[in-house]
Amino acid sequence: MYPDRVVSGMRPTGAMHLGHYHGALKNWIKMQTELPCLFFVADWHALTTHYDDPAVIERSTWDMLIDWLAAGIDPSQSTLFIQSRVPEHAELHLLLSMATPLGWLERVPTYKDQIENLANKDLATYGFLGYPLLQAADVLIYRASQVPVGEDQVPHIEMMREIARRFNHLYGKEKGFEEKAQDAVKKLGSKRARLYNELRTEYQQHGKDAALAQAKAMLDDAQSLSMGDRERLFGYLEGSRKLILVEPQARLTEAARLPGLDGRKMSKSYGNAIALREDKDTVSKKIKTMPTDPARVRRSDAGDPERCPVWQFHQVYSDAPTRAWVVKGCTSAGIGCIECKQPVIDAIIKEQEPMHERAQPYLDDPSLVRAMVADGNDAARKLALDTMRDVREAMGLAYT
Ligand code: SF4
Repeated sequence: MYPDRVVSGMRPTGAMHLGHYHGALKNWIKMQTELPCLFFVADWHALTTHYDDPAVIERSTWDMLIDWLAAGIDPSQSTLFIQSRVPEHAELHLLLSMATPLGWLERVPTYKDQIENLANKDLATYGFLGYPLLQAADVLIYRASQVPVGEDQVPHIEMMREIARRFNHLYGKEKGFEEKAQDAVKKLGSKRARLYNELRTEYQQHGKDAALAQAKAMLDDAQSLSMGDRERLFGYLEGSRKLILVEPQARLTEAARLPGLDGRKMSKSYGNAIALREDKDTVSKKIKTMPTDPARVRRSDAGDPERCPVWQFHQVYSDAPTRAWVVKGCTSAGIGCIECKQPVIDAIIKEQEPMHERAQPYLDDPSLVRAMVADGNDAARKLALDTMRDVREAMGLAYT
C-alpha cells in the first residue's frame, strides 16, 4: 500500500566506535542500496538517559553525522535527519500515548534491563518509561515497512505492530465504511473486483495468508485507485477499518559482533573502544596493549585463541588462511602475541583509511553537514506531515 521504507536511528551519547560500525552501520550502508532509508539522530532518546547532561548530545550529534558519512552512508541515497527537527514525532508520541496501556510499556524487556544496567542514573522518569512508545512514533510516522534490529529489539517491533493495529482499530472506523469499501471494489474493474472478493473471503473465512498476500499485491498494482480507496480496500481485506498506520516488520540484522579491547562489549564508558576515526598510531597502540590469553605468560607458552579477545578481532578482520595461521601458531607457541596482532592492526587501519578521507571535507567545512541535514530534515518532515494529516483527521483533530 505504502512504499517500502526503512527507518532507523542512533542515540548521540558519545563518539562512535568500531563496535557501532560492525554492529549497525555496515547494515545501514548495505540497506541504503536496496530500499529508501531514513536514518535519524535520536536526540530526544538520548535525553531519556542523559537529561542531566544534555551538552554531550549536541556535540555528539554533529560528530555522529560525520561518522555516518565517513562510514559510507550516502546522503544522495539515504535521508539523514535529526529527530527533534521533525516535531511531529512528538505529536504522534503524545497521541499514541493516550491509548497505549501502561502494561505494554512496563513489560518491554529492555526497560527493566536498562534500569538495572544504568543503576547510577535515576531512570524512574516518565520519559524513560515512554521510550519504546517514542520509538514506535519514530517508525510509524514514516509508515516504515522495515526496521533493522538485533534479536533483543524484536519485542519493541512487536509492540509497535500492536500499537499500529490498535490505532487502526480505534480510529480507522469510518462512517459508511462498508458501502465506501464496496464502491471502491467496483472501481477495480469487474475481473479484479471478483478476484478481490474471492481472496478476501478465502482469507477471512479460512485464514489463508497466501490469499491475503495475493490480494495486497493486486492492490499495489491497481494504479487507478485513490489513496483513500486504497487504504479502505487494504483495511477491508482484514476487517472493517481503514489502515492509517502501517505495521512494520523487524528486519533481523546479521551483525558481526566486535567486542571491546578487553573482550567485554565495546563501549566508550568501559574504556575499551576504538573510535571510528581513530588515528593510526592510537589504533596500533591500543591493539598492541590488548590483553591476550592469560596462559601465554612467556613466548614459549602455548595458548588458546578461544580465551583471547584478539581472536575475536581476527574473526571479524582476518581471512581463513590468516585465522588458520593464528590457531596453529597460538596453540603451538609458534607465533608471539605481538606478531599475531599485526594483521588486525593492518586491517583496522586499512578499513579506516577511506573513512578518514570521506570525513575530511566535512571537518574542513562543517557547513556542509549542516546543509545536508537541513535537506534531510525537510524531506523527513514532508513524509511525517503526510501521516499526521491522516492521523489528525482520523482522530477528529483536523478542524477543517
Ligand atoms: S597468539 Fe594471538 S590468539 Fe594466541 S593468545 Fe596471543 S594474541 Fe591471542
